[in-house]
Amino acid sequence: MPETVESVFAGVVARNPGEPEFHQAVREVLESIGPALARHPEYAEVVERICEPERQVIFRVPWEDDQGRVRVNRGFRVEFNSALGPFKGGLRFHPSVYLGIVKFLGFEQIFKNALTGLAIGGGKGGADFDPKGRSDREVMRFCQSFMTELYRHIGPQTDVPAGDIGVGGREIGYLFGQYKRITNRYDAGVLTGKGLAYGGAQVRREATGYGAVFFADEMLRQAGDSLEGKRVVVSGSGNVAIYAIEKVHQLGGTVVACSDSGGYVVDEKGIDLALLRELKEQRRGRLAEYAEHARNAAAVPDRNVWEVPCDLALPCATQNEIGGAEAAALVAGGCVAVVEGANMPTTPEAVRILGRAGVRFAPGKAANAGGVAVSGLEMQQNASRDTWTFGESEQRLREIMRDVHDRCWATAEEFGLPGDYVAGANIQGFRRVAEAMLAHGVV
Ligand code: NDP
Repeated sequence: MPETVESVFAGVVARNPGEPEFHQAVREVLESIGPALARHPEYAEVVERICEPERQVIFRVPWEDDQGRVRVNRGFRVEFNSALGPFKGGLRFHPSVYLGIVKFLGFEQIFKNALTGLAIGGGKGGADFDPKGRSDREVMRFCQSFMTELYRHIGPQTDVPAGDIGVGGREIGYLFGQYKRITNRYDAGVLTGKGLAYGGAQVRREATGYGAVFFADEMLRQAGDSLEGKRVVVSGSGNVAIYAIEKVHQLGGTVVACSDSGGYVVDEKGIDLALLRELKEQRRGRLAEYAEHARNAAAVPDRNVWEVPCDLALPCATQNEIGGAEAAALVAGGCVAVVEGANMPTTPEAVRILGRAGVRFAPGKAANAGGVAVSGLEMQQNASRDTWTFGESEQRLREIMRDVHDRCWATAEEFGLPGDYVAGANIQGFRRVAEAMLAHGVV
């Protein structure tokens, strides 16, 4: 890390104790931006400010379960940086959520959103609520209570949340309904990831998974290779994973394994997407049931999916799921590229192991930017009361992911780091935000 920012990092650790994920995300960016600071010493002025959220809200979320028992969760919204536009970033409902997770995600989001080229700032939120095993009515009551506090902090020109782990179409619907009721306004642009019936955009549901695969395709093409015939492993079986699997299959690769928190399944003929979607999107069941319905598939409980050999790895579940041991297993299995669909799924140690072995690596803030990019398109359509077709929207997503790829590639080259997508993404994202922050003065 350059000396100029080392003291900033020490300050971040001291001011934010007990938040290792946030420290990890900040360290990764600060380690990358040295070449940009050397060329533009004026950027140094914003480094400390960029690591401090503009606003952090923590609130009580009381709700009643189906037995009439009162439950209490903790809700969060971290409005990290609005230099480029309204705060924008998803909501995560998962028992592991605490302030440090929300801050790491919000910090990443600033640079990801900058990379898309759209006018959106960075933020993130969520709650330590576990929707797993909860009835629809319980989820609805939780969402209504969560929004009863959150509504005062958000708005189409202020802060625009979306989904993330545990927050899909169902939750966004309940959140939007409560926002509309409390405010007495039909502000479609206050949330993205909405259903198509009430202001949602075509391809938003598919965008993160499709986008990650488009990025992988660009990366392989850059290396004179392609997705055709590739053996692919995807972790997770949620929103990002499902649509990553769909796009890999459309582009000629085969996804042979995917996972959830209970283990993984292997299906050498290729994951049966109709079955997976029925299981996960409709029945909200466990992945192990997949093997009961697919003749040639095997369920492997309580094991890590990264032990399955593959050419391309798409981590689409959660942070720090590929550590040193998993990276070593991927290298041993012949993996040529790792493309992050999830946020920060690869630990710094794993990134080093992959780098030493010559495995190409795409960080989430570039590779999974398709989700927020199509959210940006959803905001545009809401503002102009327009709707675009699936084909137009997918084409736009494809172009955006190509641009994000090319910006990362070109920036890495410009700073003498060819092929380093981490440096390319961090420098390019930082540069855009820093320019805007300098222009705004000390605010
Ligand atoms: P979902 O809730 O739809 O799916 C998450 C999947 O990951 C599930 O299969 C879940 O398994 C698994 N998972 C979650 N936590 C863990 C854990 N601690 N250990 C093992 N498996 C786990 O979330 P998304 O698909 O929306 O999000 C996945 C990742 O992509 C996250 O990192 C998110 O931040 C990132 N992302 C999402 C975007 C979006 O548009 N949705 C945009 C950009 C990034 P189980 O059901 O068993 O918990």
